[in-house]
Amino acid sequence: MSSTKASQSVFTHLECAHCGKTHAKELPNTVCTDEACKAILYARYDFSANVPTKQDLKHRPPSLWRYREFLPVVDDKNIVTLGEGFTPVLPVTNLTAHTDGKRVLIKDESGNPTGSFKARGLCMAISKAKELGLSAFVIPTAGNAGGALSAYAAKAGLEAHVFMPKLTPRAFKAEAALFGAEVIEVDGNISDCGKLANKLAAENGWFDVSTLKEPYRLEGKKTMGYEIAEQLDWNVPDVILYPTGGGTGIIGIWKAFGELQQLGWIGSKRPRMVAVQSKSCDGIYTAFHRKEIRSTYKDEGFTIANGLRVPKPYADGVILQVLRESNGNSVSVGDADILSALRELADGEGLFVAPEGAALWHAYKELNRSGWIKDGETVLLLNTGSGYKYIDNILDAAPRPDSADG
Ligand SMILES: *Cc1c(COP(=O)(O)O)cnc(C)c1O
Ligand SMILES: [Zn+2]
Repeated sequence: MSSTKASQSVFTHLECAHCGKTHAKELPNTVCTDEACKAILYARYDFSANVPTKQDLKHRPPSLWRYREFLPVVDDKNIVTLGEGFTPVLPVTNLTAHTDGKRVLIKDESGNPTGSFKARGLCMAISKAKELGLSAFVIPTAGNAGGALSAYAAKAGLEAHVFMPKLTPRAFKAEAALFGAEVIEVDGNISDCGKLANKLAAENGWFDVSTLKEPYRLEGKKTMGYEIAEQLDWNVPDVILYPTGGGTGIIGIWKAFGELQQLGWIGSKRPRMVAVQSKSCDGIYTAFHRKEIRSTYKDEGFTIANGLRVPKPYADGVILQVLRESNGNSVSVGDADILSALRELADGEGLFVAPEGAALWHAYKELNRSGWIKDGETVLLLNTGSGYKYIDNILDAAPRPDSADG
């Protein structure tokens, strides 16, 4: 070991993303407490403190906890872990008709606990909540977040209540129940789940860990940005494609790059960030191309990419800001194209990706064809989850009555 002292978090406070108001880290927090603001909160760190060097990291275990200092959990004894993070970055080697002159990489998050990148966020939220003395949690979920919350709550010996749309594939309902959570099926979308979850949370004193309405899931998700930089030897890709639902990943990765620059571990170069959405729920896509700073509610029903059925992300303004600041883009993909992209990646690259990840492959091909992606560029696609949990959606892919692109 090259580092001599125990690694300690340099977490200092929470700061509102919009008005900058400081929130104490010793209390459970949700969003900005200024009634007129209510924006999301960012965890802030003291990067001038005794922090490790890039070289120190080499000796650390391959999990997201290798970035220990830049995570919000103060006392190691509160860490609830199931082995999350440090997922592989795999080059596309066979589907070369589409990658000629480009370097296309897939960061494969499917090997995380419960089969998706949601493990990163919920691992951090539950660990920090344990540190703050919270014991019962509620989540509205399109599927993967509910499974991840349930698993980490089970490991921590805490209570989970999961609100899921009825149209969620069976694997998601089954896993949450197996992990001992209460599963409540809602006849509606994730916004409907959110309203009900919110009401019951208030009535029962449960803590709501909805996307970006508590600040620590973001800290778990930002580790994807740390890993991407480290795994590319501290060079960031030219383009990152991200399947955007609530947007924690895209905001988290962007936050990570800012922190890495403060640490002096990367320079000022940033990837162009691309938010990929499902045609059923593409409010970010529409707002981006209309140059609007907020999105409007949109839901046209079932999509095989459940995780993308978010009609109006809470942090839509921040997602759009990241797209603008990065000179990024947004692409909307229908279910039929998602399904053929999923089949192409499975057959061509041996990867059974989640439909959300498959949407990126289609979006990549479109951006490549249009010339938006240039020769010599490195493009990274985040496959956010495992396809296995969506087997119902994939086998039963005939159009549903409420499907947007029929
Ligand atoms: C939740 C989810 C998404 C969307 O993630 P956000 O951070 O909410 O944008 C994408 N893919 C999968 C597999 C998911 O479970
Ligand atoms: Zn504020």
